[in-house]
Amino acid sequence: MGAPARLLRAVIMGAPGSGKGTVSSRITKHFELKHLSSGDLLRQNMLQGTEIGVLAKTFIDQGKLIPDDVMTRLALHELKNLTQCSWLLDGFPRTLPQAEALDRTYQIDTVINLNVPFEVIKQRLTARWIHPASGRVYNIEFNPPKTVGIDDLTGEPLIQREDDKPETVIKRLKAYEAQTEPVLEYYQKKGVLETFSGTETNKIWPHVYAFLQMKVPETTQKASITP
Ligand code: AMP
Repeated sequence: MGAPARLLRAVIMGAPGSGKGTVSSRITKHFELKHLSSGDLLRQNMLQGTEIGVLAKTFIDQGKLIPDDVMTRLALHELKNLTQCSWLLDGFPRTLPQAEALDRTYQIDTVINLNVPFEVIKQRLTARWIHPASGRVYNIEFNPPKTVGIDDLTGEPLIQREDDKPETVIKRLKAYEAQTEPVLEYYQKKGVLETFSGTETNKIWPHVYAFLQMKVPETTQKASITP
């Protein structure tokens, strides 16, 4: 029997609206890595009505983070089923205690950090406008109404959902920054932080791709890859 394949233990980090979802799905399309998203894991538990799901819902409904011990237990339990796989963690760890707890069980090889300017993210996340009566959705960047703030069909005013308003978005981004700054510093000190900066996901992606191609053991690369 040959030596066991080396597995990649990776984390992806990025603010809401940084393109993390798109980059993660491209990574899993091109590389043989299991994608584990803490948000998906929590939503799955909520749907199934598990004990953790019921507990998680009370925090998520209040816009709060799940307590570190609960989140860590859930993530580590899930990772126990993936010991033979390379994986990419998304959304976990989100705080320093979570990163430290993860470190006690696994050695993280690389942390992909997507660094998109605050203003660009703000523009992306506040671009959605809705016509409340019909539910028609516009996006100022990709699908703008003919007249700013006005529904094309009825001429009625458009509104922004609470979540899409600039003040809410800024609050969310600031909270993300405050929580994750210590995590980024922690990984920086360990020498595993790899930051990719840019304003467009399509321009950031080839760099992430090239980096992973260099980084991942051959066994984790899928055949016939074109970025
Ligand atoms: P997300 O889909 O990543 O935005 O996660 C949805 C919600 O789940 C977040 O707003 C948090 O309440 C909770 N959550 C997800 N990941 C974590 C984590 N690592 N630590 C604590 N709470 C989390």
